[in-house]
Amino acid sequence: MAGGWTRDGNVQDQIDASVEDAVKLARSRLPGGEGLTHCEQCDDLIPEPRRTAIPGVRLCVSCQAEMEKRETTPTGYNRRGSKDSQLK
Ligand SMILES: [Zn+2]
Repeated sequence: MAGGWTRDGNVQDQIDASVEDAVKLARSRLPGGEGLTHCEQCDDLIPEPRRTAIPGVRLCVSCQAEMEKRETTPTGYNRRGSKDSQLK
């Protein structure tokens, strides 16, 4: 049997799997689904205009700001620039 062919197939499978994982990961980071009426962190009421503006919001304005200040990872950057940086 020609083992080389199966090896090629496995490599392709691995590539597909990691692309799928990346897509799943990216989707899980996007706000979506149900938001919270009260902040996840401090339990403050999240004003309705904010909940409407940001579907799936989980933090009040001040906690969100705090988190963004602390967030120096590419995750935070991507989420903010997702409109045009996603394809780069
Ligand atoms: Zn809060």
